[in-house]
Amino acid sequence: MLYDVLIIGAGCTGVMTARLLSAKNVKVAVAEAGPDVAVGATAANSAIVHAGYDAKPGTLKAKLNVRGNRLMKELAAALGVECKGVGSHVVGFGGADLATLEDLLARGRANGVPDLEIIGQEKLRAMEPNISPEATHSLWAPTAAITCPYGITIAAAENAVTNGVDFYFNFRVTDASRAGNVHYITDGRETLAARYVVNCAGVHSAEVAAILGENDFPITITPRRGEYFILDKAAGGLAHSTLFVCPSDRGKGILVSPTVDGNLIVGPNAYPIGDRDDTATTAEGLAEITAGARRIMPTVPMNMAITSFAGVRATPNQYDFYLEASKQIPGVVHAVGVESPGFASSPATAEYLVGLLEEAGLALSDKPDYIPTRRRDGNHIQWNRLTEEEKAAKCRENPAYGKIVCRCETVTEGDLLDMLDAPIPAVTVDMMKKRLRAGMGRCQGGFCSPRVAALIAERTGRGLDEINKSGPGSWLVTKREEG
Ligand SMILES: Cc1cc2nc3c(=O)[nH]c(=O)nc-3n(C[C@H](O)[C@H](O)[C@H](O)COP(=O)(O)OP(=O)(O)OC[C@H]3O[C@@H](n4cnc5c(N)ncnc54)[C@H](O)[C@@H]3O)c2cc1C
Repeated sequence: MLYDVLIIGAGCTGVMTARLLSAKNVKVAVAEAGPDVAVGATAANSAIVHAGYDAKPGTLKAKLNVRGNRLMKELAAALGVECKGVGSHVVGFGGADLATLEDLLARGRANGVPDLEIIGQEKLRAMEPNISPEATHSLWAPTAAITCPYGITIAAAENAVTNGVDFYFNFRVTDASRAGNVHYITDGRETLAARYVVNCAGVHSAEVAAILGENDFPITITPRRGEYFILDKAAGGLAHSTLFVCPSDRGKGILVSPTVDGNLIVGPNAYPIGDRDDTATTAEGLAEITAGARRIMPTVPMNMAITSFAGVRATPNQYDFYLEASKQIPGVVHAVGVESPGFASSPATAEYLVGLLEEAGLALSDKPDYIPTRRRDGNHIQWNRLTEEEKAAKCRENPAYGKIVCRCETVTEGDLLDMLDAPIPAVTVDMMKKRLRAGMGRCQGGFCSPRVAALIAERTGRGLDEINKSGPGSWLVTKREEG
């Protein structure tokens, strides 16, 4: 098969691009090193759909963030993914911070962010009763929102598959060659051929540029890790909106925010690391996050932390995203150095990348039979989001919806079985977790993970020892050798 476009990397940038192209008369593939979509930075970030006041006016970051903010909300509505317009505050502590807030306000207005205002202590405390008494002002951005970054990326990927995009998982691109106008991209076992290639490989995107044949590529990437705590849903209501501190040269700082699922998230810090894929958390890092969270909300109940995680930023050696057609290799487009607000920007970044492909010669026409939903028959709605009447009807129709497998998040056997039939079947425990939240609650999968693994094994006709957590090598059960 000769693809028109091959996208390398199934994070939000690659997937949103694949989804847009899936509405056109072109054949598209996505090659992803991991076992699923959204396994890089897209899986591990603050989940904020930033309003767009942060980036310097005139930059791609600024333009794509502001447009992406609107598109992300539209996309979430179209694909049945929750996106809550909770707004954000950049919280100031005294006069020096007020000057920073005024700069951000001016930037935001220049970037076209609507309805920004600086508010004083009284109004801030009325909106956020748990904010530090030391907080004096905030920049209030009502258009900021929260969603689930991997949830919406999975939804967009399902929509793309429904419209004919092929995903190749566990396909780490290691080599590339070109004959005429066809690129041959391989993981050492299988080779994919395509007329155009889009490099969306996140923290590995500069390496992938070299693999594609770039010499003297202008962008280098420094991996910078950010660590987080997630607090139990009992703490979820302590913040009504996302609470940032004033940004510094190390980024946006440690925030406290509700999550779309009702938890509280605190973090991240920012440290350069050696191993680009090192998502370990550290005792020192988590202590720093605790201190940072307490500065914004002194009463934040860190004893309610249920898990911690870390994500790795792809920080480039320039301020802006590097979204460019290759100057050396015809038919190659790069999305490199896509750090924050890369998630919020991603639907707009995708439009920009598609524009670059067209400029490079890709002819696009609308697909008349494009399906705008995740599946042919619409968007999947999880049982626990139905009304009581709908839940009862669903259980009568299929008793599997009456069996709760994940007690913390109320995930039913019916939901799990449904995910095995999804456009991208969920065949690992983590794929189920990301799609349904089975294992994301208070017990962190202690109760449901074995049952989820057993169900996948039973329904796919595989042995339990063949089911893994998150791709090859992450085994859950080993087979005892006889004798
Ligand atoms: C701590 C932290 C907090 C953040 N907070 C926010 C926020 O609140 N809001 C916001 O807008 N942005 C935020 N960001 C930034 C945002 O997460 C990223 O900009 C965005 O996820 C980048 O998406 P991507 O698709 O470009 O990269 P990724 O999601 O990293 O995807 C790249 C993909 O490429 C794959 N890949 C790599 N090498 C290869 C290869 N050789 N072959 C095949 N596949 C390969 C990887 O496996 C990966 O799946 C944050 C980032 C971090 C780390």
